[in-house]
Amino acid sequence: MAFSDLAQYPTAIELLQRCLDRGRLAHAYLFTGAALEPLEQVARTLAMTLNCQQPPRRGRAGLALDCCDRCAVCRRVAAETHPDVLWVRPESKLRLIRIEQLVPRKESKRRPLSDLIYQKPAEAQVKVGIIVGADRMNPSAANAFLKTLEEPPADSLLLLLSTEPDRLLETVVSRCVRLNFAEAIGPGRNPELLAWLGRFAQMAVTEQGTVLSRYRLLSILLEQLEATKQQLELSLRRESPLARYEAQQTQAPEPEARSRARTRRAEPSEPLELEADLRAQWEEELKAAVEADYRRQRADILSMLQWWLRDVWLLTLQQDSTRLAFAELAQASAAVASRISPTQAEENLRVLESTQRLLNTNIQEALALEVGLLNLAL
Ligand SMILES: [Zn+2]
Repeated sequence: MAFSDLAQYPTAIELLQRCLDRGRLAHAYLFTGAALEPLEQVARTLAMTLNCQQPPRRGRAGLALDCCDRCAVCRRVAAETHPDVLWVRPESKLRLIRIEQLVPRKESKRRPLSDLIYQKPAEAQVKVGIIVGADRMNPSAANAFLKTLEEPPADSLLLLLSTEPDRLLETVVSRCVRLNFAEAIGPGRNPELLAWLGRFAQMAVTEQGTVLSRYRLLSILLEQLEATKQQLELSLRRESPLARYEAQQTQAPEPEARSRARTRRAEPSEPLELEADLRAQWEEELKAAVEADYRRQRADILSMLQWWLRDVWLLTLQQDSTRLAFAELAQASAAVASRISPTQAEENLRVLESTQRLLNTNIQEALALEVGLLNLAL
């Protein structure tokens, strides 16, 4: 199975592919999630991708970003018969990973994982050692394996899979890059946002890609963000102590509230000054809360847009429409897809990803969004 067929973990897989794109894969990953089977699938696909003979696409660093799922190497990795991909699984009644599965032991004839890592590969470019249920390593096995985990040779990769990462030794966890595959599946289905996305998609269809139309799309997005911020501001202000305080100010001042306010500070001071202080503090807290919630909701809105652009991309590849995230927008998505190439559609996904990244820096929001939307091919 290729990464393109593993759509249920978009974030984690995108992260992996971004590392491949830059040629900067870590030497050890810890994949965590609710069940081992999907983690095994991701590990298998990564091992295939690193050694595939006919990868469908390559990244900037020349590494494959996905596997073909058909060549002889892919087939052998999938069947677990490839000599340079070694699976280690819990064994025996106790379901434990024993020390001889990981490092050489005189009394054992089996090939330990460290042999795969330190010996020359039979044929692979990257040797891959996969420990399924890594939390089942007993402490002596885990300790014996630490050195291998710390400095494996450059042509090897270790993948530890665990549904109970809390049971792993801290020394093991700290030597791996952790990727979580437990995320929610697919985009959110908030009705208000769905309606907004429908308007956005419809506008994209009718406007046919001029610069002016791009600004219209931008303004649809900005309006939604502005409305989101106002709603948050209103609802959070209602919950903030400021609202109660202001209500009291407009009615008769309540002595109890004032004395309560005074106890917040160690030193007594003039009531008026104190109120101003406290008020400023509440305003500050409210502002921070609005900002934090707003950033989260803005990310949700952009992620929804990204899912829609993914639909458009799938349609440029003539994929069947059952895989769309927004079946209700299939017509608009198909209309846009008919105008652009798969490469442009894929580039759109990258544009939105980098917009999301930009927004997390200090750059001005409107500027980041403008650059992002003007670069979309629609
Ligand atoms: Zn292949």
